[in-house]
Amino acid sequence: MRYSQLLIPTLKETPKDAEVVSHQLMVRAGMIRKVAAGIYSYLPLGLRVIRKFEAIVREEMNTAGAQEVLLPAIIPSELWQESGRWDHYGKELLRIKDRHDKEFCYGPTHEEVITDLVKQSVKSYRDLPINLYQIQTKFRDEIRPRFGLMRGREFGMKDSYSFHASWDSLDDTYRRMQEAYHSIFERCGLNFRMVQADSGAIGGNFSAEFMVLAATGEDAIIGCDMCGYAANVEAAETVPPVTPPVIKKSLFYTTVDGVIEVVLRADRDINEIKLKKLIGEAEFTGTHFTGRPIKVVHDHMIDIVNARAEDVCAQCGTGHYEMHRGIETGHIFKLGTQYSEAMSCTFTGEDGDQSPMIMGCYGIGIGRTVAAAIEQNHDASGICWPIALAPFQVSLILTNIADQELVMTANVLYKTLQDAGVEVLLDDRNESAGIKFKDHDLIGIPYQIVIGKKWLQEKTLEVKTRRTRHMECVSLDQVSTYLAPLLS
Ligand code: ATP
Ligand code: MG
Repeated sequence: MRYSQLLIPTLKETPKDAEVVSHQLMVRAGMIRKVAAGIYSYLPLGLRVIRKFEAIVREEMNTAGAQEVLLPAIIPSELWQESGRWDHYGKELLRIKDRHDKEFCYGPTHEEVITDLVKQSVKSYRDLPINLYQIQTKFRDEIRPRFGLMRGREFGMKDSYSFHASWDSLDDTYRRMQEAYHSIFERCGLNFRMVQADSGAIGGNFSAEFMVLAATGEDAIIGCDMCGYAANVEAAETVPPVTPPVIKKSLFYTTVDGVIEVVLRADRDINEIKLKKLIGEAEFTGTHFTGRPIKVVHDHMIDIVNARAEDVCAQCGTGHYEMHRGIETGHIFKLGTQYSEAMSCTFTGEDGDQSPMIMGCYGIGIGRTVAAAIEQNHDASGICWPIALAPFQVSLILTNIADQELVMTANVLYKTLQDAGVEVLLDDRNESAGIKFKDHDLIGIPYQIVIGKKWLQEKTLEVKTRRTRHMECVSLDQVSTYLAPLLS
């Protein structure tokens, strides 16, 4: 494509509200623009990257045996009442009313819709397992939308849901999805870890997250230096001390039944997720309470603290934990029968009996993964796209559009590369070479070919690798051969 015909409004200044580098660079590179808190427009370059990533996700989902569907974004409240989540999901759920005062929500996730669809369409064990996915826009009214596409309110997600007649069958699909997720993030050239996770609001009892490692990640993850155990700190197990701690502190939580006292080592942090699993919903009410608590929980009897670096590994008992920060780009769950039971999504077994289907669900954040890729692939001048996600593979920088020979050469090369199936961006703008070099470093296309002075003097082209800044002079008829192995 020709740069002069594309909307790429690059910016010199870093936008004030952009705290992390991916957000700054996506705005500066003219990929996205904010419309409201956590709500963005995607411009041509941004959309090309999103579509690239979606294509990889589609390919891997199809290979894993999942079928693509598209569910509605607007969901009637009845379905969420059936699952029981209408009253429990909280303020992240955007509730809306139509002109007849009927209640709907903008889907933050689609377990209800898909369970209802499968319940109506699949009746027998013979039609199971089935694995359905979509790539669709979600809405979650996040309390603190930030970091651009990383924590938006409106965002793209690939979500899949699998339905099974047996736990073995779920295990099988879960494993295939796990492999597909590995392939997806590997193809994008990302440095990531799969970690044990807490299931959060989606439910279920077994889940793993895919974490792209980055200092700006919102999640803390631990990994054992010996056995390979890795987990989100929310879920990471710790070994309670054998003897009661010498210096202790007490925290008080209010539950529906009364106040509960939690006693733990003075230097450790409570893990409220673990605590809530133990005692149910509870709210921290302070460090002092004059009455008598209905129950006391001690951290030397049960695991209720956050894991931290240097802790002995709870899995192998010999290694120690290391801490990293990660961006959660994917999350896979063994859901079990939570939704199928609540919504009567049953099948007839071989023996003629009715049973609830066993479910799995699997999500990937589209925009968040693209942002995570930038967090891992940038330098002081801009983005350094991994080849698989780059909006174009090669950019042609025509330094002077008034020079007929340069224009002719650029046009020949543009056509040659396009005919060879290369995705090329030809910078044919009436701008100085300096501005063009800056813009191309910012937007981060992996290979830049300069059609300028070197051509006029020596009939060669400078081919620059964006990431390493390595430069080589290549003759016009050798460019395709030079690029071929780099682009494959
Ligand atoms: P988080 O803990 O970061 O809020 P989550 O556990 O709520 O994430 P899931 O419900 O598992 O997320 O959603 C599946 C995927 O969707 C996540 O792994 C993430 O990549 C993406 N995602 C979730 N919330 C957002 C958001 N607000 N903005 C962009 N992507 C998101
Ligand atoms: Mg969330």
